Amino acid sequence: MNLLIDNIGELVTNTGIGEGGPLGIRRKAALLVEEGEVAWIGPARYAPAADRRIDADGRAVLPGFVDSHAHLVFAGDRGAEFAARMAGEPYTGGGIRTTVAATRAADDDRLRDTVGRLRAEAMRQGSTTIEIKSGYGLSVADEARSLRIATEFTPETTFLGAHVVPPEYADRPDDYVGLVCGPMLRAALPYAKWIDVFCERGAFDADHARAILTVGQAAGLGVRVHANQLGPGPGVQLGVELGAASVDHCTHLSDLDVDALAMSETVATLLPGAEFSTRSPYPDARRLLDAGVTVALATDCNPGSSYTSSMPFCVALAVREMGMTPAEAVWAATAGGARALRRLDAGVLRPGVPADLSILDAPSFLHLAYRPGVPLISQVLHNGVPQCQP
Ligand SMILES: [Zn+2]
Repeated sequence: MNLLIDNIGELVTNTGIGEGGPLGIRRKAALLVEEGEVAWIGPARYAPAADRRIDADGRAVLPGFVDSHAHLVFAGDRGAEFAARMAGEPYTGGGIRTTVAATRAADDDRLRDTVGRLRAEAMRQGSTTIEIKSGYGLSVADEARSLRIATEFTPETTFLGAHVVPPEYADRPDDYVGLVCGPMLRAALPYAKWIDVFCERGAFDADHARAILTVGQAAGLGVRVHANQLGPGPGVQLGVELGAASVDHCTHLSDLDVDALAMSETVATLLPGAEFSTRSPYPDARRLLDAGVTVALATDCNPGSSYTSSMPFCVALAVREMGMTPAEAVWAATAGGARALRRLDAGVLRPGVPADLSILDAPSFLHLAYRPGVPLISQVLHNGVPQCQP
């Protein structure tokens, strides 16, 4: 059983072959899906016969979004905290503990329902790959079960036991770091691909972050870091030094931070939903791009500081507020996210990769930024399987 997507007006491949530089755009194209993978891409007039056919009718097709940063395993709602911020209170990150209490009190099915609902919501908006972090359990058992549930929804799972120091360790953070590096890491390992630390004033300092990331790396996990979100700090340089796949947030960067990123393989993942939802200054994507840094966009979906699962919303914000062109933002939300997860088979459309893609209800990817807030994702294929009908 194969499937042909025919009459594609604008096909974004991210192969760099064709128009539009890195986007590798092909016009009047067709794409054949076989056994869940892209089997053929070429001019529509040469399209082969297929068992099933979708007529794209001149619309745009692009790779599925790769949301490389999301916190979906949680319980509770922090809408009141958002309202308070919009009334003028600053964001400090302290509300994470509210979600920790609600998450610990929730049973597995409740957490699973939340992850499933948000995963489906993200898919409807074109995200075919998503990273999911723990970090609202902060005990050995609750971090392990958060990751176990996350593995039911994605292979890209991240152990974030070092999100904040939980209340019962408030006056002995060194002991908590010992717990994270020992029993908690051991319990997380069967379910985690990555390790992450919230390296920020009020969370974990450079020494603690280094200790946790180093022991996680030695155990075989890939490194990612929450860095330089609320103010300048050591997180970006630490991430680069440890060979992190990605440093995330990057809102407050020194010239040395930018230089270090530009000379590394580490991706700078920008999360404009967080600045939107905390009414904070946006990161300067233009500065990073001009320096030659690889930039990704992700949602940071979480109940406190960025309760959106929408990559199109992040693309629109990045274009309007962060100095990115629509082409740069769409690349960052697809191929950039894939690089942030060190995935060669995501965020790209070429023969041999999973057929993860979106058909837009628009003639061009440009419309993702040009028509913000409009549901332009009309159909999503994940592993070649249509997820939602137009
Ligand atoms: Zn985050």
